[in-house]
Amino acid sequence: MQRNVIANVPLLSSSGRTLEVLDPSDGQPFDEIQRGNARDIDHAVHAARQCLDAVWRQTRATDRGRWLLELSTRVSAQADTLVALEQRDCGKPAWQARAEVHALVRALALHAAACRAEQSETRCTTPDGGSILTWHVPRGVTAHILPCTHSMPLFGHTVGAALAAGNVCVIKPSENASLGLLRVAQIAAEAGLPAGALNIVTGLGPEAGDALARHPGIDHLRFTGSRSVGTLILQAVAERHCPATLELGGKSPHIVFADADLDAALPAIVQAAIYNAGHSATAASRVLVEMSAYESVLERLGQAFERLRVGPASMTPDLGPLMHSRQQQHVWDFLSDAQVDGIAMVAQGQIADEAPEAGFYQAPTLLRDVPTTHRLVQEDVPGPVLCAMPFEDEDHACELAHATRPSPSPTAGVWTSNSERALRMARRIRSAQVFVNHYDAACDLELPFGGLQAGNCGNEIGVEAASSVRTFKTVTLPPG
Ligand code: NAD
Repeated sequence: MQRNVIANVPLLSSSGRTLEVLDPSDGQPFDEIQRGNARDIDHAVHAARQCLDAVWRQTRATDRGRWLLELSTRVSAQADTLVALEQRDCGKPAWQARAEVHALVRALALHAAACRAEQSETRCTTPDGGSILTWHVPRGVTAHILPCTHSMPLFGHTVGAALAAGNVCVIKPSENASLGLLRVAQIAAEAGLPAGALNIVTGLGPEAGDALARHPGIDHLRFTGSRSVGTLILQAVAERHCPATLELGGKSPHIVFADADLDAALPAIVQAAIYNAGHSATAASRVLVEMSAYESVLERLGQAFERLRVGPASMTPDLGPLMHSRQQQHVWDFLSDAQVDGIAMVAQGQIADEAPEAGFYQAPTLLRDVPTTHRLVQEDVPGPVLCAMPFEDEDHACELAHATRPSPSPTAGVWTSNSERALRMARRIRSAQVFVNHYDAACDLELPFGGLQAGNCGNEIGVEAASSVRTFKTVTLPPG
């Protein structure tokens, strides 16, 4: 049974309750995590505050950098264990789990390298010879509520950046992706991270997550997850004016013009549709195709979808199972609505014969001519479902790309051999990141990522993530 990690000590929840951990590949329970509650969160926040006041505030930036580097090195040494945990806990194929653990290693090293002394600068002198200083300071105790998708790299960026800047952290991982991060917290304790700098409380969103969002001891909240939960988080923090950074989900479109190199575009779009079993902000969920190429693109995409195989994480399939049965039921509900509403299915992949009946499998599905008002276009579908629709011209393509509510998608792909059009579209598409003639659903998070477009209240990953974990204060000194 797994325990929370508070002040480097493995602890049972004061609720006395646990949650079963299911293997998505066979639907069977194989472990338990603590069902954390408001008291556990309170304990973790106090441990963090104590560490901040007694130890962390006095640490040098170079020492924080050394700890983060040490953690990165130790995580790397235990990569095989973490990969196995991610496969079992999240149903990720080995190649994806390994890539994500390595992304965590790199993120920790990146933020270790970025550790630097808090900067202060003289902004100006007053007419009577006084000074006005601006000090860059950490936020203090930061809360991190993480999603079930790629929790390893996200942890590396949001927690790595926060610790590097001199904050202490309380983390609530997804109840569907906790095991790997609990192991990382244990590794951090073994690496000698001061007790209380990094604390993890597992549990359900409306319990442990909500308690964390509402806790008065939190100085900054960082959330990555769905738009619907993001709304609840903003409402919770608004009550006490706690600053928050949100990276939310979306309906990332791919816009394919008739002059695009389809040999490059179509495999990339298929991979993007099935990345993380289709449950990711960067997963392709819509493909918009110029009318004259629509039928030929659908024919080729359909053939590619029919070849895809979903299977147990241990089998090296094209994609693994979804993470839990609720997610699977959710996708089935969307597909059943599609059928009732007469939306045509172009093709579907295969569920491997070896896949146990009770696993949470969903064959990748390609649908066509999906009306923009349909919930398949408007809502997050947590699985590998790609909706195709034709467009007439650039204006129409932009209109369709922006037709989702409440916000534009975090990422978009534009495929055309016309370089002027490519740049024109990149300017017009209101996504935080636009990929032109290539696409990386996994995103190399060391590079600049995302942006501050509508719907994203901040930036949690990439090199820009560090900016929101520190703030500044102004100090005015008299002359002399
Ligand atoms: P989710 O929103 O259901 O849950 C995210 C986290 O919030 C979990 O830890 C959950 O326990 C917690 N939570 C749930 N209800 C809560 C509440 N009432 N109060 C406080 N916390 C609560 O998302 P998920 O299914 O775990 O992850 C997938 C989503 O994350 C998708 O929408 C995906 O697009 C998005 N995502 C976005 C990015 C990005 O960079 N923009 C990256 C990864 C994932």
